[in-house]
Amino acid sequence: MKLQFVGAAQTVTGSMHLLHINGSKILLDCGMFQGKRKEAFEINRTFDQFNPRDIDIVILSHAHIDHAGNLPTLVKHGFKGPIYCTRATKDLAYIMLQDCAHIQEKDVEFVNKRRKKQGKNLFEPLYDSDDVEKTISLFKAFNYHEDIDITPDVRLQFYDAGHILGSSLVHLMIQEKERIISFAFTGDLGRPNLPILRDPDKIPNVDYFICESTYGGRFHDTFDVSGTKIIEVLKRAIPKKSKIIVPSFSVGRTQEIVYLLHTLFEADPSLRIPIYVDSPLSVNATEVFRQHPECFDFETSRFILKHQDPFGFNLLNYITSVESSKALNDTQGPCMIISSSGMAEAGRILHHLANNIQDANNIVLMVGYCAEHTLGRKIIEGEKELNILGDTYQMNAEVVLFNSLSAHADSNELTDYCKTLDTAKMKKIFLVHGDFDQQEKFKVRLNEIGFKNVEIPKKGDVFEI
Ligand SMILES: [Zn+2]
Repeated sequence: MKLQFVGAAQTVTGSMHLLHINGSKILLDCGMFQGKRKEAFEINRTFDQFNPRDIDIVILSHAHIDHAGNLPTLVKHGFKGPIYCTRATKDLAYIMLQDCAHIQEKDVEFVNKRRKKQGKNLFEPLYDSDDVEKTISLFKAFNYHEDIDITPDVRLQFYDAGHILGSSLVHLMIQEKERIISFAFTGDLGRPNLPILRDPDKIPNVDYFICESTYGGRFHDTFDVSGTKIIEVLKRAIPKKSKIIVPSFSVGRTQEIVYLLHTLFEADPSLRIPIYVDSPLSVNATEVFRQHPECFDFETSRFILKHQDPFGFNLLNYITSVESSKALNDTQGPCMIISSSGMAEAGRILHHLANNIQDANNIVLMVGYCAEHTLGRKIIEGEKELNILGDTYQMNAEVVLFNSLSAHADSNELTDYCKTLDTAKMKKIFLVHGDFDQQEKFKVRLNEIGFKNVEIPKKGDVFEI
């Protein structure tokens, strides 16, 4: 068999790896490359390493856009095979891909307005909602740990990755002539002790392992710190009647914060303030969470027995309509407004930031990773003058940074996970989904714990296995 690295090689975006096994071509993930608009569009539109028509099967690790976001383009360019994933991934992928198609349609509309005036030819979106519908019709969804024979020689099993709802570690048992190869791929590896989700599963007897390395050389606070930190913020906010503005990813992060607040409010009623989740995608994603309690950990399942809905309580309001979103401008503090996007690049969060950051009584809570050049990154870096929707605003509000809510394993957690694998049996580990400096640091750590054969493939590299 051969393993070809097509995306997320020495970078964190566009996850995609191609297996050639006994004449079948199996694609692991089909992620969207995210970066500067023009370059990203070109990379996503052209599959330069293979023809989509030649792919037989796709296996999807989880629903995040950098892992699933280019599936509709693959289908648009002729892929007709099955797409294997877990049940929750199918439901989440549906709402996330529809949202992604919608953003692209709006984006192209905006760009085309200018191009039309300049007499230039017009762009087409990468894909639209019809392409998403066609893509979803190819999904085949399974439970964790179910044996799935995807070809006569390849048996697939999904293990829990503990990263987002439905996320999986992909395990393949491959028969090739006289030998059996045990092959595993992390997708993205989650962290032990995250709320809601179960911890990552251990996979026995792996020969070849593709491992993500986003935080291969960096460290997070443990999740428990989040509770203590939110309590401190609430205690400062209540006497000042602050509005707490939280830019948050709609899927995963928002539900974690809501659940965390629910547990904190249960423990100490004096902290209770109104919470507004203002993002239609968050509302839809929360509904998908509710439909998949089979993915929950023991604590969350026990919580449901006592309280029924972990994502709903008295002071929590989910907001979908534009009018209700605007009405939040006049709402008095103390309150918390959780809205997307997480990097404060687009969406309703921009209005909430514009309306509230000039008031020194307010608080901005930054809970997730923000890429370079995004408004979120500027807030994290402490810039005082911010351009939002074309106007300049002074950041007078207090900014509080959290790195304890990350859904990715950090350097220690990745290393601990790899310690559960058998060093004597492991033939090779391939590091993907990380910037090169992080991958090099992680490689050193893997060498230290006994894994001598660690590769950092480049895009286009092919390995004979
Ligand atoms: Zn992910």
